[in-house]
Amino acid sequence: MGRRSVMAALDEERRRAGARLAAAGAELDDLRSAGGGADDEHDPEGSTVAFERARVATLVADAQDRLAAVEHALARLEAGTYEQCAACGGPIGEERLAARPTADRCVRCARP
Ligand SMILES: [Zn+2]
Repeated sequence: MGRRSVMAALDEERRRAGARLAAAGAELDDLRSAGGGADDEHDPEGSTVAFERARVATLVADAQDRLAAVEHALARLEAGTYEQCAACGGPIGEERLAARPTADRCVRCARP
């Protein structure tokens, strides 16, 4: 895989993760202002708000993970180990990297 197309794929992934993070952050702000400091315990809507907060917090964490993965992949690209599995040292495989540009392990090592 060419370095240029890898960079483009990582840029796209970063753009998407950044957009997700911004959207989730805005949603979180909405939830905060909707709560208005009300006591969740006695608010019939409270449990729903808590659930929504937890859901959005997961989205934020996921987007942050994606951004971190992009930075990690860029560092690996810089170090010349981008296409090398971080666990076994073997090739990750072009197909896998095309599908997941931030993958740092081969399919075998990525399995739980
Ligand atoms: Zn491996």
